[in-house]
Amino acid sequence: MSKIQMKTPLVEMDGDEMTRIIWKMIKDILLVPYVDLKTEYYDLGLEYRNETNDRVTIDSAEATKKYGVAVKCATITPNAARMSEYDLKEMWKSPNGTIRAILDGTVFRAPILVKGITPYIPTWTKPITIARHAYGDVYKNVEMRVDAGSKAELVCTDKNGNETRELIYDFSDEAGIIQGLHNRDKSIASFARACFNYALDTKQDVWFATKDTISKKYDHRFKDIFQEIFDAEYKEKFEAANIEYFYTLIDDAVARVIRSEGGYIWACKNYDGDVMSDMVATAYGSLAMMTSVLVSPDGIYEYEAAHGTVQRHYYKYLKGEKTSTNSVATIFAWTGALRKRGELDELPDLIKFADNLEKATIQTIEEGVMTGDLAALSSIENKQTVDTESFLKAVNERLVKLV
Ligand code: NAP
Ligand code: MG
Repeated sequence: MSKIQMKTPLVEMDGDEMTRIIWKMIKDILLVPYVDLKTEYYDLGLEYRNETNDRVTIDSAEATKKYGVAVKCATITPNAARMSEYDLKEMWKSPNGTIRAILDGTVFRAPILVKGITPYIPTWTKPITIARHAYGDVYKNVEMRVDAGSKAELVCTDKNGNETRELIYDFSDEAGIIQGLHNRDKSIASFARACFNYALDTKQDVWFATKDTISKKYDHRFKDIFQEIFDAEYKEKFEAANIEYFYTLIDDAVARVIRSEGGYIWACKNYDGDVMSDMVATAYGSLAMMTSVLVSPDGIYEYEAAHGTVQRHYYKYLKGEKTSTNSVATIFAWTGALRKRGELDELPDLIKFADNLEKATIQTIEEGVMTGDLAALSSIENKQTVDTESFLKAVNERLVKLV
């Protein structure tokens, strides 16, 4: 059998712990036998990030800008415990945060649905893709506790030194708390464009919601920017693709989402996205079945699994024990990236391969072969719980027949 050829390299970002082990297994068992993999490799494992003073993360993001498509393994975001565990020079920042900032991207998360695992909301028969605006609001706020007798004001000084003042609250009789939020027009516009582009790419409607009736300037600005960009740049393209942009109030959106069957992109302000993505992921069943893609407003894509490095399983693996770690979201990160590479380079064989690998993966689970996390959720009879490597081999048995 001749291997599928690639044209442009894919940026490959390796990672940490159990997902690093899975990464290699996926390549060895499911990719290299079929595809003449052309990747530009960056080792984002914590040891090498430390060795390069995190330069490798920046280089990998720059390479992604150059080539347009990347696939990323889960990585450790260092905390105090990791400082000593890896003898780090510094508490390096989250690679995802660094890459997102360089690409100015928006993260889209979507669940992989399989028969036998029913979402907690049984009407959700299609995936709901959550897009979170990952800039500003309460995540870049300033806040204070104020004593009784204080007067809190919002003051803005313009470039000519003129002040605009607005009373927040007169705390004359009691103590309290205040908070200052901001966002940037440019960041909101990038978010809007990323959502509209991804909608065209995946042929799904976009829903967006804020609380503009209460927040007449702040939230209303989000609503206006989305609408202006949609009208000026996307209206006709959406009509041609037969998809819609739908705006409503956040509480109305929540009610509609629950009643819906899924199958759309839900664009969320930062806090809404933080909260709702956890709710949606849980309702679909398993974090290990959640995919994630970072999309920049100019159409650069970085694919990954939404879960972390599965540290607990890694320590078992290091002791020589077999683990039953779910590799599905990491497989789908690879198929997403290979398909996108195939689309950009016009390689139908590569696109077909990505489709077949996804099909074989889902078929394996639907035929009852799955890792422990899914076996605990699946209603399929005669399930067989397998270890990490056996699952990949079971997928390959089916993949061989499809290609
Ligand atoms: P995690 O790696 O997502 O794992 C948390 C737990 O969820 C696991 O212990 C496991 O539960 C279950 N789980 C997650 N993925 C699974 C899979 N593929 N198969 C089976 N079970 C799975 O989160 P964490 O333990 O909080 O974080 C570990 C490290 O990952 C941290 O250093 C963090 O910084 C990093 N992280 C990276 C990313 C990223 O790169 N995108 C995202 C999140 C976290 P059981 O133990 O009950 O089996
Ligand atoms: Mg959250």
